[in-house]
Amino acid sequence: MKFTHEHTDGKARACLLETGRGVIHTPSFMPVGTIGTVKAMSPDELKEMGAEIILCNTYHLYLRPGHEIIKSLGGIHTFMNWDRPVLTDSGGFQVYSLSALRKIEDDGVHFKSHLDGSMHFLGPKEAMEIQQALGSDIAMVLDDCTPYPSTHEYAFTSLYRTVRWAEQCKELQREGQALFGIVQGGLFEDLRRKSAEELIRIGFDGYAAGGLSVGEPKDDMHRMISFTAPLLPEDKPRYLMGIGDLGDVLKAVETGFDMFDCVMPTRNARNGTLFTSRGRISIKREEFKADPGPLDPECQCYTCLNFSRGYLRHLFLSKEILSMRLNTIHNLFFYLQFFENMRKSIQEGNFTEFGTRWKPILT
Ligand SMILES: [Zn+2]
Repeated sequence: MKFTHEHTDGKARACLLETGRGVIHTPSFMPVGTIGTVKAMSPDELKEMGAEIILCNTYHLYLRPGHEIIKSLGGIHTFMNWDRPVLTDSGGFQVYSLSALRKIEDDGVHFKSHLDGSMHFLGPKEAMEIQQALGSDIAMVLDDCTPYPSTHEYAFTSLYRTVRWAEQCKELQREGQALFGIVQGGLFEDLRRKSAEELIRIGFDGYAAGGLSVGEPKDDMHRMISFTAPLLPEDKPRYLMGIGDLGDVLKAVETGFDMFDCVMPTRNARNGTLFTSRGRISIKREEFKADPGPLDPECQCYTCLNFSRGYLRHLFLSKEILSMRLNTIHNLFFYLQFFENMRKSIQEGNFTEFGTRWKPILT
């Protein structure tokens, strides 16, 4: 994997991440394909709208259909017919957020499946085995996601557990699969610094910030984002995990983060919340009942070019499958377009103006 800087504007960076399955232009948004599908989208549609990489969730694929099944069917790319890069998370975050019962020990975590209540174990070895069976292009180390709130003592213990697991994952890394480390440390600056130092000592292909957007106040989250970014090596990709509110993305790109993932555009689309150049709208509202205009007059997506707000409202209220499809097409297109324009603004040295123009729309 090769990572090159093209342009910088302040601390914001436009870079190229070259993988065996294609080039990723950063800042990059990764649509979330939780169980091996970006909900309601075909791979061709994703490509057409410019998605260069997607994220799949190890936890979900391990539980269903199982990584061995996916391996026997040719790996995640063949399984879902997506030939561009795939990043898999380690499963740690979903164990933390979805499993009703979990017990974290020094060698891994015992957890209960949210699907059928069966018990499972996920340690660094298992996390790497599963991601290798899936055959993702970028794997993540197993981390212990420090909950909010946490004491300094707890965050410290959790951080060293993550460091030990990161070391073990690194030893198991195989050629052809990049591996990213994950900075933890809760809301404590000394711990975030320590975490970054330890991971850099081990040495990874990229570095992520984890344990944010887990219930802490926004100000604290923004403080940790701007504190963490400069701790990470300049010559490696920096990935801010799970944060995709575009206002937060702007702040994070401003501090030097490159990669993002979030279920927001897809999940909100299915719930009828749509992102537009004039702010968010809820398509179910009465005011759109007889509205002949496009969802977003400035958007060039299939949905906006072909359908009225009145029709989209009707589909949504009637719970038609096409509603989810058209809404998702628009929201993902809008996100990818936003990232492309943000990248362009960095290349042209206009990132600050780009931010100033979008901030009032995004809040
Ligand atoms: Zn659109």
